[in-house]
Amino acid sequence: MLAERLTRGPVSHYDAPYENLNHNAARVYRGWWHNCWGGMTPAHVGKHQATGAPDFGVLVPLCKVAHQFYDEHRKEWAKATGFTERQMASAAAGYALRYVERGGVPA
Ligand SMILES: [Zn+2]
Repeated sequence: MLAERLTRGPVSHYDAPYENLNHNAARVYRGWWHNCWGGMTPAHVGKHQATGAPDFGVLVPLCKVAHQFYDEHRKEWAKATGFTERQMASAAAGYALRYVERGGVPA
């Protein structure tokens, strides 16, 4: 879910500093360009998988490096990406809903 997105902070050393001057808006957009690495993985929002928490509706697609950052630095995730835990949970529910709407066919 971070693919090709601008984030506030880097989630891995593959991410690159980004700066773009928008002349019309007369402002500079600064952030980090997220470069996915390691392939897409299903990341658990909220409780970790080891707790036996159910999978459905609590997964978001994250590449391997973003997933690792999310699992290891949960407290810094929102600051780096702008996604709060509530937004992550909402995104996971949205992915599950779309999956059901598609008749159980992955997007
Ligand atoms: Zn990524």
